[in-house]
Amino acid sequence: MNVIHKEKYTCEYCGKEFDHIQDMAINSCKKHPDGIYEGSHKLYEGSTKSRYECKYCGKTAKTIYDLVSSKCKHSPNDGWHRPRL
Ligand SMILES: [Zn+2]
Ligand SMILES: [Zn+2]
Repeated sequence: MNVIHKEKYTCEYCGKEFDHIQDMAINSCKKHPDGIYEGSHKLYEGSTKSRYECKYCGKTAKTIYDLVSSKCKHSPNDGWHRPRL
């Protein structure tokens, strides 16, 4: 197990990780709530958790990427699950 913790920036919409925060702004997000590639990634500003919970339906997953990989029935805009901060 790797003990060196490297800070990563995770997108709240798609769970993609970035080494540099600047990279988030210049890349569009395919899970943006306004539509596919309608906007850039959004920094997940919550804490690092062992399980992430969807703020709409309560579904949990080990990573944000896993959580947002399926559509959420309770999402207001028929989108994907969204992690609670
Ligand atoms: Zn994204
Ligand atoms: Zn959900």
